[in-house]
Amino acid sequence: MTSNRWVVSDLDGTLLNHHYDWSAAASTINWLQQQSIPVIPCTSKTAEEVRLFRQEAGLHDPFIVENGGAIHGDDGHGGEWMLAIGKPHGELRPLLDQLAKELGSPLPALEDLTAAEGDALTGLRGEALARAQRRQWSVPFITPAQELRDRLRDLASALGLQVVQGNRMSHLLSAGSHKGRALEELKKHLHQSDVEVLGLGDSPNDLPLLEAVDQAVVVPGPNGPHPVFADAIANGHYRLAPAPHAEGWALAVRQWLGP
Ligand SMILES: [Mg+2]
Repeated sequence: MTSNRWVVSDLDGTLLNHHYDWSAAASTINWLQQQSIPVIPCTSKTAEEVRLFRQEAGLHDPFIVENGGAIHGDDGHGGEWMLAIGKPHGELRPLLDQLAKELGSPLPALEDLTAAEGDALTGLRGEALARAQRRQWSVPFITPAQELRDRLRDLASALGLQVVQGNRMSHLLSAGSHKGRALEELKKHLHQSDVEVLGLGDSPNDLPLLEAVDQAVVVPGPNGPHPVFADAIANGHYRLAPAPHAEGWALAVRQWLGP
């Protein structure tokens, strides 16, 4: 981790498309690793899911999991260090049920879905779904109807919690745990406060990450970027990747690094 540049990226919906395919960025990721430019996943996924992704992508850099709930990195002796930022899942899980009661509407947690429901929501089956369901630092749940979201946010805030919305579901976390905070904690942990960071994301839960980086890139889906980013893209605060998912990701990274 001696490079003065980091690529910090969301995975689902950003680098990975809705079929979890990121092959269009494979050669760019390889090239970044050869240049010793870290590629740091910053994702809603669990650590066990990200470990598999890192293996496939050949990454050795730290990774931020569960929407900023914790940071992991290789310790150089075959193990990992881990920095916890938020409340553990065991404390959060009963609070989701309390919120559902106060809201007067069910908030089904990902971990409680049947195999068929989990597949319909995530496209994951079997052990891949189980890896996504075993949470340590957050509770993902089915995003409620639009008209309930403001009230849910207020109820969560009154309990010292927050709800962030990803591209497939919402996530309950401690207030103050988010992807941007995790990035700041990682810089501190590695004593690299001066590093120049490119951040890439696709959904509202990426806003704190995009606000914490030096260059923010919104990666669109096939139907364009998430509407929450429209103003920031229009006024040049965020850049829009020139293509969806891995293809746009790779082009945006190459543009940032220059010729
Ligand atoms: Mg995403």
